[in-house]
Amino acid sequence: MEPSSEKIPLSCQVDDLHTVGWSVRRDLPQSERLFRAGRIFAIFLVVAFFTVFVPVLHFILPPLSLLIGATLAFNEYAGTGEMLSGEVVCPNCKKVLELPRETEQWPRVQRCSGCSFSLTIDRQHRPATSSH
Ligand SMILES: [Zn+2]
Repeated sequence: MEPSSEKIPLSCQVDDLHTVGWSVRRDLPQSERLFRAGRIFAIFLVVAFFTVFVPVLHFILPPLSLLIGATLAFNEYAGTGEMLSGEVVCPNCKKVLELPRETEQWPRVQRCSGCSFSLTIDRQHRPATSSH
């Protein structure tokens, strides 16, 4: 277990049906976000370098890989948290879906592997309580 991880409740929605789930998440420190973004961009930089040698396509592929790399790296850097694991129950077919480890983004849309419905998964906002 990562030391700074926390478990949060999730809600899962299809039309008028709601279920709940949970996710273990953690905040990503700035240095780690920068490192991960840099690593992604580096991979695409290498791809761009090698596609320079592909005949004809070298007009398209290198700038395209740089563009994709920059976009993905920026997305990675923009994410301030990481979802480590999670589980929701599909409101439609009641199948338990495991959430993959990836950059945190709410709400997220995921396709149910049981019934192929698009599920909208969001952090569950607790009812407003008076602050202490
Ligand atoms: Zn389902």
